[in-house]
Amino acid sequence: MFTIKGKTGTWEIVIGLETHIEVLSNSKIFSGASADYNPSVAPNTQVSMVDAAMPGMLPVLNEYCVDQAIKFGLGINAEISHRSKFARKQYFYPDLPQGYQISQPAEEPPIVGRGWVEIMGDDGNPKKILIERAHMEQDAAKNKHDMHPTKSFVDLNRSGVMLLEIVTFLDTKNPENNSYITSPDEAERYLRQIREIARALGVSKANMEEGSMRADVNVSVRPVGEKTFRTRTETKNMVSFKFIKAAIEYEARRQIEIYENGGTVSQDTMRYHPDDNITTVMRSKENALDYRYFPDPDLLPLIITDERVERIRKTMPELPSATRVRYIEKFGLSEYDATRLTETVDISHWYDAAVDGKAERAKPIANWMISELFAHPENYDIENQKSGVVDGMRIITPNDLAELVDMIASAEINGKQAKEIFIKMLDGESGTPHEIADKFGMKQITDTGAIETAVDEVIKNNPAQVEQYKSGKTGLLGFFVGNVMKATSGKANPAVVNEMLTKKLG
Ligand code: ADP
Ligand code: MG
Repeated sequence: MFTIKGKTGTWEIVIGLETHIEVLSNSKIFSGASADYNPSVAPNTQVSMVDAAMPGMLPVLNEYCVDQAIKFGLGINAEISHRSKFARKQYFYPDLPQGYQISQPAEEPPIVGRGWVEIMGDDGNPKKILIERAHMEQDAAKNKHDMHPTKSFVDLNRSGVMLLEIVTFLDTKNPENNSYITSPDEAERYLRQIREIARALGVSKANMEEGSMRADVNVSVRPVGEKTFRTRTETKNMVSFKFIKAAIEYEARRQIEIYENGGTVSQDTMRYHPDDNITTVMRSKENALDYRYFPDPDLLPLIITDERVERIRKTMPELPSATRVRYIEKFGLSEYDATRLTETVDISHWYDAAVDGKAERAKPIANWMISELFAHPENYDIENQKSGVVDGMRIITPNDLAELVDMIASAEINGKQAKEIFIKMLDGESGTPHEIADKFGMKQITDTGAIETAVDEVIKNNPAQVEQYKSGKTGLLGFFVGNVMKATSGKANPAVVNEMLTKKLG
């Protein structure tokens, strides 16, 4: 368990995350305007009357968005509500033209109910993180304060794009139920898990750098062994794993210090300042916003039939957790290798494309990826699996790697030559591994006649070592193999060399 040593004792951290992911769909959740609001799109060009909150305009629910929420719910093993509602969450801010955000009511079941995901806990064992709910809501517009010295602008392109907010569960009635996040590392692993599930399902790009995933971080601390939960603070709008971890740690230490000095923590909303790595109070509980939630009279309750859920369940692609099990059980990979190759959906897609269903490739490809390719991230396009040369850098594709391991398997080249071809590709050599092997004359010598000549030569030139070998120093075999390989410029098939030497020296 992750703990922090204070002056008076040892403390544990309790963490709850509210994660927002931007949902992929062609149009917005309540209008027909395009939901693609990327920065290259001119401001205020993808805005319907609904998104601009023109009087009298009525929202129409996008059923594809609903399917996306259901899909994600199934991906986190959650109950899907047969009936949920939309509510207005009221606050005033220029990025919210309606004066309220359409969300789902906090005190009633949202579309996605109780679920869970599995992460690796700090003790290295699988750990379930319970999820309380995931609900649908609209994103706000974007305020722009840096375009004019005295004016601010609003870009409504993002207004009304669907968000899914996923909230982790804390079993306050049963504090011994430890299926919640208890360390900065677990928080990161949980968020990565959510990201990969969303990506595998095509529900969201869930990319923190691009802003399609953000999190509010709730933190409290308690002395190890204490049975109840203490007051938490909430740090808003975090958009990087690194800062989330730093903010949790800072906030936990700040709270511990307050308790150890005899104070109490108040339930404040905090802001994190990355430059100074500190949190400060954004608003205190007394000034908490009252959102005056009320049912949205323009939207009917959302009714979801079992048939609809089952129809979506049938279209679910393999989730990262299942991919991992498949690699271990079907391909015989180690836990470690399977975990590395399922760190992101892009990596496992790349790996699957290289293996291409051929089980004999599974282990060699895994080894090459983990021990060679991962060291050169600039040399493979994990997302698009494209080939070609980018900035003078050769992009290695799944096909390239597949061809390379097949050439080793069929004894066309040996491992050393494969490594040379690989390095040539890294250095920008174009062509397939076959073409590179041809160009540089790197065919392996399997012809026993040619190898025998080299073996005889080496034995003849090293009588002292032969004597020692024969008197029991069999460790010298490597010496002979090395010399034969040198004599054949590394081209001999090492298996053949080994066998022949053992026989002749025997
Ligand atoms: P709010 O409605 O104020 O956002 P929620 O009940 O929705 O509060 O909880 C928000 C998040 O905070 C949830 O993930 C929840 O598990 C977490 N949380 C609640 N109480 C605590 C606590 N004492 N310590 C840490 N996290 C907490
Ligand atoms: Mg909340």
